[in-house]
Amino acid sequence: MKQLLILSGKGGTGKTTIASSFIRLAQAEAYADCDVDAPNLHLVTTRTDEGKRTDYHGLAKAVIDQGKCQQCGQCAEHCVFQAIQKKEKGYQVDNYLCEGCAVCTLVCLTEAVSMREMVAGQMVLYEQKPVFSTAQLKMGHGNSGMLVTQVKKAMKKAGREAEVAVIDGSPGTGCPVIASLSGVDMVLIVTEPSLAGMSDLQRIIQTAEIFKPQIAVCINRYDTGLEQTAEIEGFCELYGLPMVGKIPFDARAIAAVNQGKTLIEVEESPASQAIQEVYRKTMELLLHAGKEPEQRENFAEKWLLW
Ligand code: SF4
Ligand code: SF4
Repeated sequence: MKQLLILSGKGGTGKTTIASSFIRLAQAEAYADCDVDAPNLHLVTTRTDEGKRTDYHGLAKAVIDQGKCQQCGQCAEHCVFQAIQKKEKGYQVDNYLCEGCAVCTLVCLTEAVSMREMVAGQMVLYEQKPVFSTAQLKMGHGNSGMLVTQVKKAMKKAGREAEVAVIDGSPGTGCPVIASLSGVDMVLIVTEPSLAGMSDLQRIIQTAEIFKPQIAVCINRYDTGLEQTAEIEGFCELYGLPMVGKIPFDARAIAAVNQGKTLIEVEESPASQAIQEVYRKTMELLLHAGKEPEQRENFAEKWLLW
């Protein structure tokens, strides 16, 4: 399975719009939404089948048994995350602040504190072809990286026969992005022409390079900042990063996406045409990522002739 991961430095860059179009163009037999804090790929890849839902348990959190608590305050004093506070009903743990370090269980002499697994989110797996794996992390629960790893594992297991998998990553460079990078063959970075766009791009490249995938860049809404677009292109040229395309701003395309359509369904749209070119160039690079000549021919026949 060739895995293509689509990343961006921040939300709203058009990453999911591009991912959903790629899924449609490639007729990908497996895809995943690794933006577990704010998943939205399901909104533009409508499914008629029922997904299998599984609770996701993150790290255990502290729980105080008020019957055993002697109100000594040692747990609150030793919690560096200030997750334990004295309330009217005694010492209470704030689940949003608790990091699950278990120090409070060690300092409590009455064994009133224990660690308990909590439901931190939900995973959804659509097992019928095309396989789709996604998840939603509950607000305030950390460990989104662990959940991303589970989402990818589920996709790989259920879609093991798929030749190409498209993964919509989460924005930024944090833990979920690092988890989504592991094991992918290629990363397509979607950036935009702004000051933040350039620095975000550099940060993602630094993170992605640790995993040594093929990296390519595309610029979304490139015509909203031609000067910065030229800077990004210059940067890519300087560092030998393939620039696979520039997508123009297209208000009709945004309206279509808001209606739950993929960008390529919008007729006579310059953005739609540009994204098809980005797809073609991306798949050509993916084709050469670690394949033998004969395999490349088969791959090209299947994924590039449309
Ligand atoms: S350390 Fe134990 S006994 Fe003391 S306040 Fe905390 S839970 Fe209660
Ligand atoms: S587990 Fe750690 S973070 Fe959570 S309440 Fe106890 S000491 Fe604080």
